[in-house]
Amino acid sequence: MDQIYLDYAATTPLDKDVFEKMKPYLFEDFGNPSSSHFFGQKAETAVDCARRTMAELLDASGEEILFTGSGSEGDNLAIKGAAFERRKITKANKILISSLEHSAVTETAFQLQNEFGFEVTLLRVDKFGIIDLEFLREVIDENVAIVSTVYANNEIGSINPIHEIAVICHEKGIPFHTDGVQACAHLDVRFHMEEIDLLALAAHKFYGPKGVGALIHRKGIEMLPQITGGKQENKLRAGTHNVPGIVGMAAALEKKTHNLVQNNEMIIKKRDRIIHSICSTIQDSYLTGHPLKRLPNHASFVFEGIVGNDLVVALDMAGFACSFGSACKVGDPKPSKILLGMGLSPDLALGSLRITLGNQTTDEHIDRFLDVLPGLVKKLRK
Ligand SMILES: *Cc1c(COP(=O)(O)O)cnc(C)c1O
Repeated sequence: MDQIYLDYAATTPLDKDVFEKMKPYLFEDFGNPSSSHFFGQKAETAVDCARRTMAELLDASGEEILFTGSGSEGDNLAIKGAAFERRKITKANKILISSLEHSAVTETAFQLQNEFGFEVTLLRVDKFGIIDLEFLREVIDENVAIVSTVYANNEIGSINPIHEIAVICHEKGIPFHTDGVQACAHLDVRFHMEEIDLLALAAHKFYGPKGVGALIHRKGIEMLPQITGGKQENKLRAGTHNVPGIVGMAAALEKKTHNLVQNNEMIIKKRDRIIHSICSTIQDSYLTGHPLKRLPNHASFVFEGIVGNDLVVALDMAGFACSFGSACKVGDPKPSKILLGMGLSPDLALGSLRITLGNQTTDEHIDRFLDVLPGLVKKLRK
C-alpha cells in the first residue's frame, strides 16, 4: 500500500520546476561567487538576482536579505547576534521569548541564560497559543536585549499578531525577531509593513531545497556574527554561498507567492473537512490552537486517554505519515511544552496529533485517513 504524507510542516518535497532552475548552478555554473573571474561573476549574478527577488517578495530591500544554512541558523544568528551586540552597547541582559517557540529559539535563549549570563523571561500565551500582549507590555523594559516570538507556530498552527508585538517592542526601542519559518511557507509575510526587525525562514518548508534559509535583517540592527571568516553577507555570515540552494529558495518563494491565494483556498477546505470530521466523530477529541487564526494547511488535535506517539506509530503502520506535535519530538513521549504552556493538563497534552497538508494531498488521501483514524484511536484507548 502507498504511504500517504501528511507532515508538510516537517518538510516538503523539492518542486521540479525549482530543481530545473537550480541545475545549472550544480554543474556548469559552479563558480564561487567570491571569485573575481568569469565563473565567480556568473555565480555572483545568480545570488544577487535571488536576493532581489526575495527582497521584493517579502517587502524588504536586497541588502536586508542574509542567506543562511537553515531556519535554525537564522534564529540563532538573530537571537545570539542581537543579544550579544545589544548587551555590549546597553548592558541589557534580558531575553523575552514565548512558551510556544520552536526549539531553535528556546534552546538558543536558554543557552544564552545558562552559559552567558542572560536572563530568559517566558511570555504568556492564551488558550489558543496567541501571545498575551498585556503581559508583554508589563514585562518589557530597557533591560531587554531582544524579543523573539514565533510568527506562526509549527505545532498548533496559531498565527500571532506580529505587527502589534513589533510596535510594543519598538515603543521601548527593543529589537524584535520572529521565527517566520512556517509563516513564510503559507502566508503573505511583509517584513517592512509589519515592522519586523529580524525574520528567519527556510526553503525546505515551501518546496525549496533543504539546507538553505535566510534571515531578513533590518538595517541598523546590530548583530555579532556567529560564523566568522570570509566577508560574505556583509561580514555577518561567513562561508561560500550555497548558490544552487539560494537560487532554488528564491524560485520556490516566487512560486509560492504566485499561487498563494488559490492554493490556500483549496487547502483550507481540505483542512476544515479534517477538523470537522475528527471533532464530530471522535469523542473527547479537541482541536489545539486557534480555530480561525491558524495556518491554512494545519490541523492539530489532542485525544483524551492516548499517547500521541503511539498513535503516530499506529498511523505509520497503517500508511499515514503524521506527527506527534513537532517532528523533533518523535520517539520522546513527553507532553508537549507548547500545549502545557497553553494550560492543557499533562495527560491531555500527551495525546497530541498534528496533520499538515500540502500540494500533493488529495481528497482521496483525506477520505482514507478519516476512515482509519477513529478505529486506531478506539483501539489505543482500550
Ligand atoms: C522547521 C522549523 C524550524 C527549523 O528550520 P530548519 O531549516 O529545519 O532548521 C524553525 N522554526 C519553525 C517554526 C519551523 O517550522
